[in-house]
Amino acid sequence: MTALSPLFTARHAEFAAWRRDLHAHPELGFAETRTAELVASRLESFGIEAHRGIGRTGVVGVLRCGSSPRTIGLRADMDALPIQETNAFEHRSRHDGRMHACGHDGHTAMLLGAAKVLADTRDFDGTVHFIFQPAEEGLGGAKAMIDDGLFERFPCESIFGMHNRPKLAVGRFAVRAGPMMAGCAFFDIDITGVGAHGARPEAGVDPIMVGTQIASALQTIVSRNLAPVDTAVLSITQFHAGNAYNVIPQTARLSGTVRAFSNETMTMIGDNMKRTAAGVAQALGARAEVDFRVLFAPTVNDATQAEFAAAICAELVGAHNVERNPSLNMASEDFSFMLGRVPGCFINIGNGEIEGSCEVHNPAYDFNDDAIPLGVAFFVRAAEHKLARSVG
Ligand SMILES: [Zn+2]
Ligand SMILES: [Zn+2]
Repeated sequence: MTALSPLFTARHAEFAAWRRDLHAHPELGFAETRTAELVASRLESFGIEAHRGIGRTGVVGVLRCGSSPRTIGLRADMDALPIQETNAFEHRSRHDGRMHACGHDGHTAMLLGAAKVLADTRDFDGTVHFIFQPAEEGLGGAKAMIDDGLFERFPCESIFGMHNRPKLAVGRFAVRAGPMMAGCAFFDIDITGVGAHGARPEAGVDPIMVGTQIASALQTIVSRNLAPVDTAVLSITQFHAGNAYNVIPQTARLSGTVRAFSNETMTMIGDNMKRTAAGVAQALGARAEVDFRVLFAPTVNDATQAEFAAAICAELVGAHNVERNPSLNMASEDFSFMLGRVPGCFINIGNGEIEGSCEVHNPAYDFNDDAIPLGVAFFVRAAEHKLARSVG
């Protein structure tokens, strides 16, 4: 690995201390009041204009230098998870039932570190928007910021975010053009039949039998309606009906999740689910209504911006340490909504294989502080390249 500039390593201990403080004081989505205030006041102490309360608990820092109208957005997420931490180290969570189990403490510290370095060096011409978003973990923080006028108030020509990746060595990055993480939908299917005595099925319409037929028919959507080279998954994860041995219930409910890598595929699956469920139910004399809710768009990296991001990573760690074709990830990421509005790229930064580098969302997880200088360097160099001073 090429040695990083002292610019990024000199304050490593200070940035790591910020990260550990955030880890010790985790806050759930839209409740990141301490975190947001800490971020905003620290930005102000660097001489960066801080805007609080964007999308409830979101913060945007604005750093202008020179006269160019060019802009870049750099984004980190701030929220923790409702998990009881099992770690015993000094910076473990001080709050029962809450922990930074996804490394958003590290993401926030790295973006703050980059803000500090850029505010000190000011070696660019244009405007950097530091976007600290709330509620990434399924509560819609990115969308809340966008609905609050994020990109109208703080325009970004391109936008970059990163997530730590356990099992990827520190000193390595993974960058992928095109789809990277899946979009996610949840669904509920309410079936209405006719309740009857368990011994007299001819007197009713059995919603359990209808539900099993619907469950079976829905599996043909991925296998028969989706092109074999495309990828999606439809899982029915709940089936609720009845509460007595001798009663055919009146209603049944199937629930579950769909994951897909394009909005078109997600829409096709939702539409076909509605048609199939309604048609099967009708054929059997019942009714079925499908409530299909898209929670996350797929995370799709712009090809040009992905090339740009990969080049920055290669400059920092060498091209051989940049994975260019990591496998698709069926998990979802809220940054997808920002990428839906502004061309950009979401990259993975290695979290290493040290003790505690178990998967994210595990009660023993911890962000690896060794990755901090690399994340800071990526954000700083991305801004400096996008907003390069004209040579002249
Ligand atoms: Zn997470
Ligand atoms: Zn996360």
